[in-house]
Amino acid sequence: MTDKNYINIDNLISLGSFEVTEAEKKEFEAELADFLEYARVIKSAPQHLAPASHAVEKEQLFRSDAIEPNQYLETLLRNAPALQGTSYLVPPLAGGAGTDEERRAEAVKGKDAVYEVVIGLEVHAQLNTKSKLFCSCPTLFGSDPNSNTCPVCTGQPGALPVLNTEAVRMAVMAGLAMNSTINKRSLFARKNYFYPDLPKGYQISQFEEPVCTGGSVEIEHKGKINKIRLNRIHIEEDAGKLVHVGAPGIWGSKASAVDYNRSSVPLIEIVTEPDLSSPDEAREFMIILRAILVSLGISSGNMEEGNLRCDANISVREKGDAKLGVKVEIKNMNSLKAIERALAYETARLEQMKRAGVPIEQETRLWDESGQKTYGMRTKEESHDYRYFPDPDLLPLEIGEAWIKGLKKTIPPLPLERKKRYEKSHSLAESEARLLMVNPGYADFFDKALGSYDNPRNLANWIFSELLSYESDFSRIHIDPADFSRFLKKIDSGEISGRIGKEMLKKAFTEKKGLMEIIEREGVKQITDSAAIEKAVDEVLRSNKKQAEEYQSGKSKVLGYLVGEVMKATRGKANPGMVNEMIRKKLGK
Ligand code: ADP
Ligand code: ZN
Ligand code: MG
Repeated sequence: MTDKNYINIDNLISLGSFEVTEAEKKEFEAELADFLEYARVIKSAPQHLAPASHAVEKEQLFRSDAIEPNQYLETLLRNAPALQGTSYLVPPLAGGAGTDEERRAEAVKGKDAVYEVVIGLEVHAQLNTKSKLFCSCPTLFGSDPNSNTCPVCTGQPGALPVLNTEAVRMAVMAGLAMNSTINKRSLFARKNYFYPDLPKGYQISQFEEPVCTGGSVEIEHKGKINKIRLNRIHIEEDAGKLVHVGAPGIWGSKASAVDYNRSSVPLIEIVTEPDLSSPDEAREFMIILRAILVSLGISSGNMEEGNLRCDANISVREKGDAKLGVKVEIKNMNSLKAIERALAYETARLEQMKRAGVPIEQETRLWDESGQKTYGMRTKEESHDYRYFPDPDLLPLEIGEAWIKGLKKTIPPLPLERKKRYEKSHSLAESEARLLMVNPGYADFFDKALGSYDNPRNLANWIFSELLSYESDFSRIHIDPADFSRFLKKIDSGEISGRIGKEMLKKAFTEKKGLMEIIEREGVKQITDSAAIEKAVDEVLRSNKKQAEEYQSGKSKVLGYLVGEVMKATRGKANPGMVNEMIRKKLGK
C-alpha cells in the first residue's frame, strides 16, 4: 500500500463506521497521504547506505506519559531500514544522500577530478590583561583551582558585569594592526548553551556588531605575498576548565571537576575569510598572526598552554568551481604541527569521499593527537541554535575617534616589514631575518641592542649562537639589551677577549645576574699594559727553558704553547696579540 491512490478513503470511512463531515474527510485524507508518503520514502531508501545520519530513540517518539499511544508511528517505524538496540536508524533527510544514480555519477566524475582545498580559521587569543573581562579577578595562570573567582565570573544571581577597558584597547590594537575597520559602536551578545564550564548558561560574546570588521593579514608563502582577508575580530569571555579524573578527556573518566579561574578571561576571536589554500599556508598564517599579537604585547601566543587556539574550517571543491564545498570544522588542535597534520588528514579524507561520491555533511570533528586522525563530534550547530541576543546588562560599546588615533601611533611594524628591514638594512640572511620575525621577543631585543651598537652582523651572531643557547624564550631573558651592547663594545675594543666574554655570559645566566655586574665583579679587564705582559712572559720563558730553545732552533709550533702558558698565567686576561709579539721579540724570531 505504497500508492496513495490505492486507498479509497470512502471505503475506509464506511468500514470504520465513522461519521465525518466533508471537511474532516479531506483533512483525514491529507494526513494519511503524508504518512504513506513517509513510509514510501523509508521503504525505498537504499539498504546499503550507512544510515547513521540520525538515530531515533523510540522513547523520544513514544512518551510513557502520552495519553494515547501513537499507532501510526509504530507502524511507520516497522519500515525503518535498520534497528540497533532501541534505536531506529533512519536515512538522511531528502536531498542529503541523493539517489543511487547520482551517487554513481559523482563517483565516475571523481576518478580523474582535480580538487582544491579551501580553509578558513577561527582563532581565539587570550588577552594579556591583569584582570578578567567583566570583573576584577586576576587572570593569573596556575593559581589554586577556583581561587580567582567572584560572583560575576561564576554567574551568581544579581551579579553585574563591568567591561574591562584594557581588553577593549587590546582588541582595537589587534584590529589596527590587521587593517580592520574599528567600529565606533559595538554590542555584547549572549550566546546561550549549557556546559558545566559555563556557569551563567551563556557566554558573553559579540555577534551582530563586533568591535572590528574586515581587515587582512599579509603572509609570505612559497615566495609569494598573500593577503588573507579577515571577516571580523570580536571580544568574548573564556569558559572555565573541566578537569577529568582518571582519563585525559571526559570519555572514560570517573568524574569531572570544574575550575572557574579561566571563566571570563578576555579573548579576541579573529575570523578569516576562506582564503587559505593549503594546510601549510594555514600554519604560516598562524605563525604570522602570532607574531603580530606578541609584538603588540596583547597576547603571549603560547599554543601549548592554550593561549592561542584555532578552529579550522575546511572544504574541498573541484578546481575551478566557483561554489564552495560543504565545510567541516576541526577543533582541538594544540600546536602548529597539529593544525597542519589535522588539515592534511582532513584534506585527504574529504577528497577521498568526493572521489567515491559519498556526500559530505557539515559537521564538527575533533583532532585526536595520539591517533593522528579526526573523528566526528557532532553535526554542526548553526548560529541561530545559540539564540544570540544583546546582553541587557551591558551598554553598547562606544569608541572615540581620538582614542583610536592615539592607539594607531603605538602599532609596531608588521612582521613582513620587519623581516624586509633585517634583510635589506641589516644584511641578515633570509633565515635569520625570519627567525627574528617569527619571534618578536628576539627581534625586540635585537632592535633595542642595536640602538646603541652599530654592528648588526656581529650582534646577530652573538644572539643566535650564544644567547639562544641559554634561553630560547626571550620573554624570560634577564639580560638587558643596552647592557649587551656595552658588552659587545668591550669585546670589539679589545677591553675583554671574546673567550672571556663568553665565560662572563655563562656566569650571568647560571647566576641570573646582570652582565655588567658580573664583568665588574670578576675584574676581567683585558691586560694591555705592556709592562704587566712582559712580566708574565718573562716568568713563562724562565720556567719553560726547553720549549724556548726548541722554538729558537726552528720548531715554530711551540710558540702557540708558550702563548697559551702566558694566557693561563694571566687567567686569560692578557691581550693575546701583544703576548705573541713579545715572545717572538724576546726569543729573537
Ligand atoms: P558558521 O556560520 O558556520 O560559523 P561562517 O560563515 O561564519 O560559518 O564561517 C566560519 C569560518 O569558516 C570562517 O573562517 C570562514 O572563512 C570559514 N568558511 C566558511 N565557509 C567555508 C567553506 N565552504 N570552506 C572552508 N571554510 C569556510
Ligand atoms: Zn570574577
Ligand atoms: Mg560564524
